[in-house]
Amino acid sequence: MSARGRHRAVVVGAGLAGTAACLDLAARGWDVTLLESRSRLGGRAYSFSRDGLEVDTGQHVVLRCYEEYLGLLGRMGVTSLVGFQDRMDIPVLRPGARPARLRRTRTGPAPLHLLPTLAGYSVLTPTERAGAVRAMLALRRLDPDDPATDRQSLGGWLRAHGQGARVREALWGLVVVPALNIDVEAASLALAARVFRTGLLERATAGDIGVPEAPLSALHDEAARRSLARAGVRVRTRERVSAVEVTEEGCTVRTADGETAADAVVTAVPHDQAARLLPVQVAPRKEEWATLGSSAIVNVHLRYDRPVTDLPFGATVGSPVQWFFDRTRTGGADDPAGGQYLVVSLSAADDVLDEPAERLVDVHRRAMADLFPRAAGARLVDGFVTREPRATFRQCAGSAARRPPAATASPHVALAGAWTATGWPDTLEGAVRSGLAATRVIGSPTTHRTERSVMVR
Ligand SMILES: Cc1cc2nc3c(=O)[nH]c(=O)nc-3n(C[C@H](O)[C@H](O)[C@H](O)COP(=O)(O)OP(=O)(O)OC[C@H]3O[C@@H](n4cnc5c(N)ncnc54)[C@H](O)[C@@H]3O)c2cc1C
Repeated sequence: MSARGRHRAVVVGAGLAGTAACLDLAARGWDVTLLESRSRLGGRAYSFSRDGLEVDTGQHVVLRCYEEYLGLLGRMGVTSLVGFQDRMDIPVLRPGARPARLRRTRTGPAPLHLLPTLAGYSVLTPTERAGAVRAMLALRRLDPDDPATDRQSLGGWLRAHGQGARVREALWGLVVVPALNIDVEAASLALAARVFRTGLLERATAGDIGVPEAPLSALHDEAARRSLARAGVRVRTRERVSAVEVTEEGCTVRTADGETAADAVVTAVPHDQAARLLPVQVAPRKEEWATLGSSAIVNVHLRYDRPVTDLPFGATVGSPVQWFFDRTRTGGADDPAGGQYLVVSLSAADDVLDEPAERLVDVHRRAMADLFPRAAGARLVDGFVTREPRATFRQCAGSAARRPPAATASPHVALAGAWTATGWPDTLEGAVRSGLAATRVIGSPTTHRTERSVMVR
């Protein structure tokens, strides 16, 4: 019980999972404290300033089906900071070829809306497009929650469904590599089925793409702080939790500065940290979490002296540039000099993680010149690289069985984090869902007390 006479909950980790958990626990009547090791909130989805630019550590994309994430932005009053397309429309560029696009029709129910989308996708031959439609309809019949689906790799399944190397790269890879941060061959079939079903096959508007129109920290740090303060959540940054001790009565959360007693704890930290913090009695299978591993994302930032493309973003085929985004306005680079700030986003990037920055900048500067004639004549004013070695867990076949549910062996402790068993990929949406799932496990102070006494007896 806190000095305020209320039951105390501590949330460890101020990423999207932790922020969502805090706001929900506060709404349920808990007295909430948030402990975060860094000086800022937002976890992996943050931005920083560099030479007058606001730089997202990695470009983030939001889909209209991110209902819980958009709900959280709504609660924080910043939904308007994500700009959505009026319909899914992905320009697909190839060096030396006419641009193609994956664009849904304005009308028509799912999944029929995909027929004209694929029919107009000129990167594939008519036979390949027909085969892709058949495979998508077969994918729609898969159950993403079936463990047998997760044991299969997407690559194997696609080959068994007649999808050749070109279609795997130019269609499936275009979506799966950024969505799951892993190559098509190794990706979990269950998570791929989740992405295609929820994002493309069940609701026509679900796959419309949104891009933050403010630096990520404006949403996930500044707006989050305001919301948490309004909800009465105590936020303590630069507080690294070293252990969570659990008894039948409650928990003690240890930091370098001392300890905090709590009736309930939500850990909303990456899997290696959660395994380190929690005792084995609370998380008997924690050894397994390390096998979820990690997968990198690298962004190459290119600042030109003049505009080189009018596209807000796009994907590529046959180029090292996977996806690119125009960040001129969001990054604060829309100066009178009229330059353009583009970001190349490379997912499943473990193989380029250790490449020197100069080389990555040079490779992608040349690749952009192959895609955009105007880039060939433009001067690169600045080029730099951001790297997130542990951007997501490795979302490969068989990973679902190793993702733990929110509930632990203790009624006082719940797990959150986009790596837990949300059924969703490691995304902003998965993170928020995990935070909400954890608070459902903890419940309200009254139900928590009742259930705890039943378990203790
Ligand atoms: C470069 C990049 C690009 C991405 N692109 C997309 C995208 O386009 N769309 C999308 O939906 N998702 C994307 N993601 C994934 C998305 O960012 C994550 O899934 C999400 O942010 C994870 O949130 P989380 O709260 O689960 O974990 P985290 O954000 O990792 O938060 C955990 C927090 O816990 C803190 N912490 C750790 N240990 C301790 C400790 N001992 N004590 C106290 N605090 C601790 C950390 O400092 C951190 O703030 C991307 C990720 C990256 C890195």
